[in-house]
Amino acid sequence: MAQINDHFLKLKAGYLFPEIARRVNAFTEANPDAKIIKMGIGDVTEPLPEAIVSAMHGAVDEMANRDTFRGYGPEQGYDFLRNAIVENNYAGMNIDADEIFVSDGSKCDSGNILDIFGHGNKIAITDPVYPVYVDTNVMAGNTGQADESGKYGGLLYIPVTEENEFVPAVPSEPVDLIYLCFPNNPTGTVVGKNVLKKWVDYAKANDAIILFDAAYEAFVTQDDIPRSIFEIEGAHQVAIEFRSFSKNAGFTGTRCGYTVVPKTLMGTTSSGEKTSIHSLWNRRQSTKFNGVSYPIQVGAAAAFSPDGKKQIAELISFYLTNAGLLRAGLESLGMKVYGGINAPYVWLKTPGSLSSWGFFDDLLGKTNLVGTPGSGFGSAGEGYFRLSAFNSRANIEEAVERLKKFFA
Ligand code: PLP
Repeated sequence: MAQINDHFLKLKAGYLFPEIARRVNAFTEANPDAKIIKMGIGDVTEPLPEAIVSAMHGAVDEMANRDTFRGYGPEQGYDFLRNAIVENNYAGMNIDADEIFVSDGSKCDSGNILDIFGHGNKIAITDPVYPVYVDTNVMAGNTGQADESGKYGGLLYIPVTEENEFVPAVPSEPVDLIYLCFPNNPTGTVVGKNVLKKWVDYAKANDAIILFDAAYEAFVTQDDIPRSIFEIEGAHQVAIEFRSFSKNAGFTGTRCGYTVVPKTLMGTTSSGEKTSIHSLWNRRQSTKFNGVSYPIQVGAAAAFSPDGKKQIAELISFYLTNAGLLRAGLESLGMKVYGGINAPYVWLKTPGSLSSWGFFDDLLGKTNLVGTPGSGFGSAGEGYFRLSAFNSRANIEEAVERLKKFFA
């Protein structure tokens, strides 16, 4: 009898995006002429930068030639990419190239990392949160069942709302693993070094490890906002960082990311001895992963070429201008808006006493715009709504016009 992993049965069946699709489909059937603009899912819309495309073409040609063909590469990534990452993204941060593990994206890594942690850990997440952190812990058996509000037993939920200006407070009790994501999905908000320092100090004091998701780091525009947890003193003893080429270089479909695991980071065995997290992750990747394809890594490395950097800066600026237009449009209607300055997401307070889904229906019905109900990211997201700036300029401008027409 093939037994399954029963923990999967605890998962709330992918509720958010299927439910959005269901409501949009029902609306389109009833209103076939409606011109829907989708601002829900956080996927990029602009094509790969030219510098990256031409580097990939060259790499494909290398693979077509016996003299330059490459088979299996290092599971941890090619040195040319690991070195480029360190030189460009971690200069002065005391990170070595062999602490970079190149992968097929940060969603995969943020889930896979649980392979190397035990099952008795107390885990803290923010609420609202990127759902992958929660669901991967459910799958790993690190939680109990979900209650009516969707909260899983065994997780510590830290609310981030306008009351605390979206700054997660360190818990008053000890936890072992902490997920932090800045710039944040879904709220689009960021925190200063002082906040991250509190978390690093807390992790040190409690022998905890911070899993820091910096997938949106490239959108940080303000100089005083940290892009990496490793800008914080002491983080090398308590943190792992996830990064991605998805949102800056348009790799959502191309797939490349990386995880930074300092060699100074230690975990604890069940018998109480300290052991290297870097060695465990290296072992895990060498066993379960065979590296990212050579043309993709060449493309990722081209993100750091002078042309690549310039073209990526233009992409980021394009999406942030979209976010700025959305923010300005919503603010002109008197709505309370957060995020969208150092992130591609605008997080708004639903008007009046509308629930997140209530506003979703209202927006869809009146403006044919589709966003994401904040409650889908956690119960503390109720009463909020996420709009994504990943869209064409024409769609964003049209969206703002419609908002003004219907909500003015
Ligand atoms: N982390 C966060 C917070 C995200 O929002 C996303 C994608 O939406 C990812 C990670 C996934 O990134 P990748 O495409 O590298 O898997």
